[in-house]
Amino acid sequence: MNSIVAIVGRPNVGKSTLFNRLVQRRDAIVDSVSGVTRDRHYGKSDWNGKQFSVIDTGGYVIGSDDIFEEEIRKQVALAIDEADIIIFVVDVEEGITPMDAEVAKLLHKVKKPIFTVVNKVDNSMRETDALEFYNLGLGDYHTISSMNGSGTGDLLDAITAKM
Ligand code: GDP
Ligand code: MG
Repeated sequence: MNSIVAIVGRPNVGKSTLFNRLVQRRDAIVDSVSGVTRDRHYGKSDWNGKQFSVIDTGGYVIGSDDIFEEEIRKQVALAIDEADIIIFVVDVEEGITPMDAEVAKLLHKVKKPIFTVVNKVDNSMRETDALEFYNLGLGDYHTISSMNGSGTGDLLDAITAKM
């Protein structure tokens, strides 16, 4: 059976941009504007001869921290239930936010493979900035740029090795 990979994380870290790159299509919703409802997206991908499904879990309404907290909890819970492998995306431009810490706390309890992905590492100078993400307590992480694609091949190698 094909594995299911879920992409979780707070809004604007680049989940949909990564999803588009993984499923190699450009029609998933990518939106930098807050306050919009975004749908949950499913796509198919393959790498190293392994076929798998990808879920972009961006489908929540942004606008209030309370709504976010509740929705992110639901999204992570769904990901835990549905997915075999979880990609937790954070943003090197913003660093660790309280919302990231909250998601990390939820993920600490999960027994499935979790890949922490520091996104927006568009150049090598940002590798140093990424070091702070060790403080999430999730161990090692991958640095990628969903925008220019750097690091995504290594990430896919690591993910498909778990399938
Ligand atoms: P989501 O809310 O987590 O799904 O995030 P989106 O994929 O909608 O991206 C949010 C914003 O971050 C958009 O303006 C993207 O263009 C931008 N973005 C996504 N990935 C990267 C990246 O690797 N580098 C940079 N510099 N910007 C990115
Ligand atoms: Mg999105």
